[in-house]
Amino acid sequence: MSGKKKPEIYAPRIPGGVITVPKLKELVQRLEKAGAKEVKLSGELIFILGEKRLSREEENNLPYPASRYEIPGVRGVKVCSATTFCNRNLQDVLGLALKLDELFYGVELPMKLTIGLAGCSRSCSEPATKDIGVIAQSQGFKVSIGGSAGFYPSIGKEFATLKTPEEVIRLVGRTIEFCKAHGRKMVRLGKLVEEKGDDFFQAFLASSESK
Ligand code: SF4
Repeated sequence: MSGKKKPEIYAPRIPGGVITVPKLKELVQRLEKAGAKEVKLSGELIFILGEKRLSREEENNLPYPASRYEIPGVRGVKVCSATTFCNRNLQDVLGLALKLDELFYGVELPMKLTIGLAGCSRSCSEPATKDIGVIAQSQGFKVSIGGSAGFYPSIGKEFATLKTPEEVIRLVGRTIEFCKAHGRKMVRLGKLVEEKGDDFFQAFLASSESK
């Protein structure tokens, strides 16, 4: 466990997660005055614009591009509060999540692929319900494959225990290659692996290793 002192936090309970822009501004200003420098968003941040669409230029000038939900492919990597304000995290999963997001977010696939990381087995970010779930252990990372929510919810199956972040990155990269090669529209990874068989999936990952 990290020996870093846990920073003080304030997590406002916003019913339904809906807040007016003036109240959001007020909250930010008051907490900034109180010393807040960063905010950890646990869900999506969605601005409700009314009837006017943003022009392409307005959108391009915003500091962050819009999330792409409608296009199949690798979704934004989800991660628990570890490293930012939870001192129970056993590895730097935030750093790993950011790296995975940088490398793989938006890679186009026939289906959607979700990735979730948690800093310990409490699993606050629910990695077992992601196509690829990663849970930090004191000696590395436990990886599960095939979780999903949606129409046919399932819990990912424990697949590997890896020692380093680099091994996790490699496994995620190979799994994405597997989805590119064998994925089909609307068929999630767990179903795909079930159809092809665990041995086939393992062999695919191993064969990619030598390339
Ligand atoms: S999963 Fe563990 S490390 Fe992450 S926020 Fe929950 S308790 Fe903290």
